[in-house]
Parts: sequence; C-alpha cells; structure tokens
Amino acid sequence: MAHAVNVQRMSTMLLKTLRDDPADAETASHKLLVRAGYVRRTAAGIWSWLPLGKRVLDNVSRIVREEMDAIGAQEVLLPALLPREAYETSGRWDEYGDLLFRLKDRKGADYLLGPTHEEIFTLTVKDQCTSYKDLPVIVYQIQTKYRDEARPRSGVLRGREFQMKDSYSFDVTDEGLAESYRLHRDAYTRIFERLGLDYRIVSAVSGAMGGSASEEFLAPAAAGEDTFVDCPACDYAANTEAVTFAAPSAGDGAAHGPVEELDTPDTPTIETLAVHLGVSASATLKNLLVKVDGEIVAVGVPGDREVDLGKLGEHLAPATVELVTAEDFTDRPDLVRGYVGPQGMAGKAFRYIADPRVAPGTAWITGANKADTHARNVVCGRDFEVDEYLDVVVVEPGDPCPACGAGITLDRAIEIGHIFQLGRKYADAFELDVLGQQGKPVRVTMGSYGIGVSRAVAALAEQTHDGAGLCWPREVAPADVHIVAAGKAVQNELALELAERLGGAGVRVLVDDRAGVSPGVKFTDAELIGVPSILVVGRGAANGVVELKDRRTGEREELAIDEAVARLTA
Ligand code: ATP
Ligand code: MG
Repeated sequence: MAHAVNVQRMSTMLLKTLRDDPADAETASHKLLVRAGYVRRTAAGIWSWLPLGKRVLDNVSRIVREEMDAIGAQEVLLPALLPREAYETSGRWDEYGDLLFRLKDRKGADYLLGPTHEEIFTLTVKDQCTSYKDLPVIVYQIQTKYRDEARPRSGVLRGREFQMKDSYSFDVTDEGLAESYRLHRDAYTRIFERLGLDYRIVSAVSGAMGGSASEEFLAPAAAGEDTFVDCPACDYAANTEAVTFAAPSAGDGAAHGPVEELDTPDTPTIETLAVHLGVSASATLKNLLVKVDGEIVAVGVPGDREVDLGKLGEHLAPATVELVTAEDFTDRPDLVRGYVGPQGMAGKAFRYIADPRVAPGTAWITGANKADTHARNVVCGRDFEVDEYLDVVVVEPGDPCPACGAGITLDRAIEIGHIFQLGRKYADAFELDVLGQQGKPVRVTMGSYGIGVSRAVAALAEQTHDGAGLCWPREVAPADVHIVAAGKAVQNELALELAERLGGAGVRVLVDDRAGVSPGVKFTDAELIGVPSILVVGRGAANGVVELKDRRTGEREELAIDEAVARLTA
C-alpha cells in the first residue's frame, strides 16, 4: 500500500529505543536523544542523526532559514574543507591552536576543516562586490563545522562535528553595520521564540570595551557550560566572562600603622592563615604566581576571592598564561612559596597585576617573603605598587551589579547563538574595499552571527523534557501525532487507516504499528519519543472510540474517531 508522505511507520523505521542510559551520558539531552533513537554516537563528539533526529534537526534549520530569508539574507553553501592560505592571512591557522582540525592532501598541501568561516566569506564578497552599490549584503549558510573540542561531552550539545548557521554582514558604514546587527538580533529573537526555547540575551563583551558590539543568546539550563550574571533589580545580564566591575573607591592609606611582621608557622594557604590569625579571609591579600609567556607575574586578589584564569588569559592574550611549578622556584630564592608578598617586590621581582579591590590606600595581611612569616598593615601605594589593574576574580553571587549596584545572581546556560560586530578586522586582513560614493575605495565593515543548529536540538531537549522522556514543542517535533496501535491486528489496521487519513490531511504522523510489542512498551516509547499528541487506538476503536493524550500536560480524553481527527487537523 502506498502511504501518505506524512506517515512514518515504526514497524519499518530505523529506530531502536533503549531502556538504559548510555554509560557516559551526564546530561538529560544526551541520555534521552540516544535512548529515544534520535542520534547515535559514531566517535567522541561525532554523531549520526537517525530518522527522528534528522526531522527535528531539519525543523530547526527550516525555522532558521525562514527567518534569515525574511531579513533579506542570501543562503549559500561554502566548503567545509578549506585551504590553509586564507586562515594564514587572518592569523587563525595558528591562533586556533588545538581546536583546529588540520590535514594534508596527497600532494602534501595543508588544509583545515572549517570551525567558522569569516575568511572564506570575506574572500567571496571581495570577489563578488566591487561598489558601495553592491552593499549592504548578508550571506549565510547552514553547514557542518569542525572543532577539536577538548571535552566533547554532553552529546550533541558540544560536538567536534556540529551544525551551525553562520552569517556575515558586509556594510560600508558603521551605521550600516549597526543596522545589520539589529536585523540579526530581531531575527534571532523570532527564531528562538518559534523554537520554543526559553532564552536570554546577554552582553558578551566587557563593559570596558563598551556598547552592544557582541551579545549571546543563552538558554538557561543546568547542563549549560556558560554562567551568566543576572540582576534582579535592573535589566543587566552578561556572560560572566564579560562582566567588569567598577573599581571600589580608594582607602585612606594614612590611617594605617607601619608594616608589622607576624610569626605564622605552617600557614601556606589563606584558610590556614585566616584561622591562625583569627581574621576573615577578605582581610588578606592572596598573591597567585603565574608565568606569562614564561615570565613570572604575581596576581593579587583579596584572600576570599579566586582568580579566574580564563579571564586573566583573555586580558593578556595572545600571551600564554600558565601556573608556576615547583621547578620555577628553584632558581628564585627571593620567592618563598606560600609566603609571597608584593611589598618591595612588585616591579622588581615580578610584574604585579591586581584586582581593583586592591585599591590605593587599602591595607592587607600578606606574605612577608620569608618562610613562616606574614606581614600586616601592608598598604597599597605606600608599601607596594600595582603595575596593572585587571578584573580577574571569579564572579560570585551577591557581587554588585555593574549597572545598578544590587546583588547579582548567577545562572547556568547553554550558548545557542552569538552575534558580533566584527568591524574591519577581516576586511583589513584581506583588503576588502569597495568603490565608495566619492569614487575612492572604502574599507568594508563586517558582522558575524552564529546559531548552533544541532546544539539547539539538545538545548530544547534540556529545557522541555520530563521524567518520562522528551517533550517537543510542536514546530520542531518529529511528528504532530504519535498513534499507538494497542491491541490486535484489527487495532493495527484501524491505526494505519487513521494514520493515512491524518497524513492525507497534512498532519505529520508517527504510527506505532510494530507487531509483537506490548501496549505497555509502546506507551513508554511514545512518552520517551515526545511527540506532542498521542492517539491510542485500543479496544474501544472497534466501536469508534480512541484516546487522545497531550504529551506535555498528560491530559487524556476519550473521543469519537471523527472528533479526534477534527481536533488534530484543526
Ligand atoms: P562555546 O563557548 O560553547 O565553545 P563558541 O562561543 O566557541 O561556543 P561560536 O564561535 O560563537 O561558539 O559559534 C556560534 C555558535 O555555534 C555558538 O553560539 C553555539 O551555539 C554553536 N557551537 C559552538 N561550538 C559548538 C560545538 N562544539 N558543538 C555544538 N555547537 C557549537
Ligand atoms: Mg560564542
């Protein structure tokens, strides 16, 4: 029997559900997408999309495509296998480090698998556009990307091969770029609304850099690897990587007595020191030694705060930051491990970077640069100088909101999209100019915008699942209705008839017509797979009665077959 295109029969589908979670799975989306037969692991961070998964992925892509087309963006498809030269020109062949998949062809020429495509899009536009009249232009693709992620955990949430929508805008003026950025921001808002994701738009650049030149779309979820700052009192929201706090005001240096040494045996850590002296950790100054491009640097922060090595690395990039090792102390007798202080040392023995809380005039208890000895009344600006202030501490709940001062909260989230005003970085590298209105060449300004299409599937699974399984919003679900044939051959036949009827009317149907599978197993699988409506064709069907269940609310209703069809086609 030929059947309607909208009907998928489980009896013949490439689908095997699993009772148990995969051994290595930690997140709900990873467990459920595998167990419900949407994806299968092929290698670490590399996933195969099976029929149900492919449908969801395609639905996400379709929504993205529709909204990108609606802002006048043009779809293209560029290669994923790329020559080294372009990435050499931008500097990213090296900058990417281990994240980049590099390979050679048979002649020994270098290639890479594209992690993102700024270079190739810039070259494409350089090739196609010559005059200001050709701009503005927005170009996008939905394509496979490659990144050799250090920790490809969490299933398709962080793959080494994944699907991304990436788009790039090209404008002649800064105002033009701001407009292209705004168009993307609005399109992303519509996309994530339609996907049914709960999301927040947060600032992804530090306040110090100013403006809204880069924002992230974050989907709050416990499984997320990003942390963002949220202010309960105002609309401030930012990725913790981007938060900068105003420097606290200076203290009164003159109010403190002279430096005094303290005998503090066996107190190499802040905790042991604070207990020994009976002071709070915040009264002490912690000096973390790191190597910046091989040179020893001390980072001073209040003893109750942690240094965020990621932030420090970003501030100091492209220099590399490493923690010091025991060997680094062998030829440095002036550095007494566990008892380092900046007094008399900063600027001489090491460069001294400090958190703004270590403000001029503030007094501290810190190492005395002697074994088993600390010093008190060590005053910033009097007893030591700070070479450079950087915001380097780990953000904590209750820290003052940079916008209004109220205590902030911290939440976990998944980065699902990122919009970024690049400016002229790539246009400069590739000398992308067009002929301007005045007949002179004008340098083009660019934006770059990404959506994690495959990651969005996992983010949705994270946000919408329940104890029984997946629970898709209708627009992305692999089907509109899951018909369960619960009974004998006659129920199966009725179920298939109903499937054809609904499919013919444009309803996307998944029908469980598997022979020899108990109704109980079929119900469990229906809950696991997570199609929004479940239609049970059971004993009553012979008398024209079926049961319609809402997967999300669990509400169930007995209905006449015609009534059920009417509901599902409405
Ligand atoms: P992350 O910080 O999570 O590694 P990123 O900031 O490096 O991501 P972008 O370069 O901004 O990622 O890429 C655009 C989008 O692509 C991201 O917002 C995210 O949704 C998605 N994405 C990035 N890396 C991955 C990955 N390894 N697996 C799946 N999706 C990814
Ligand atoms: Mg990003």
